[in-house]
Amino acid sequence: MKKILVSECLYGGRAVRYDAKEIPLEDKLFLKWKAEGRLIPICPEILGGLSTPRASAQRLGDQILTENGEDVTKEYILGALKIIEIAKENEIIFAIMKQNSPSCGSKVIYDGTFTNKKQPGQGLAVEYLRREGILVFSEDDIEEAKKYLEENE
Ligand code: SF4
Repeated sequence: MKKILVSECLYGGRAVRYDAKEIPLEDKLFLKWKAEGRLIPICPEILGGLSTPRASAQRLGDQILTENGEDVTKEYILGALKIIEIAKENEIIFAIMKQNSPSCGSKVIYDGTFTNKKQPGQGLAVEYLRREGILVFSEDDIEEAKKYLEENE
């Protein structure tokens, strides 16, 4: 059975978000995949050495900065490299990653101004996954992901 890499905050069970809130995805199909053992939860920011709770951060070009201006790019890169390792160790068909995040966003991210504005873009971990040829869906694209799985497994 091919595996699906997923953002750990969508998978649930551990407070990994910067604000320590839990937001598990309740989608029926996602829960079915979870029960089958098909999902591999990863949080690139935790894997990069950051803790929960942590300062909110946004992507600005190639840098990731917290609201206070601290540069956490190094931790984000480390986390992105670690999820690539995990993806390579497993037979991953695609990833489902949390939209808007500076790590996991796949279509939209916050614009780096901390004014609650979003713009088209991708998080650093998603950029690394795509560079390795790994297809990335967001939590809003479960039906599309299902179709891809049915056609390609
Ligand atoms: Fe979720 Fe990704 Fe943020 Fe971790 S880095 S909390 S997995 S969105």
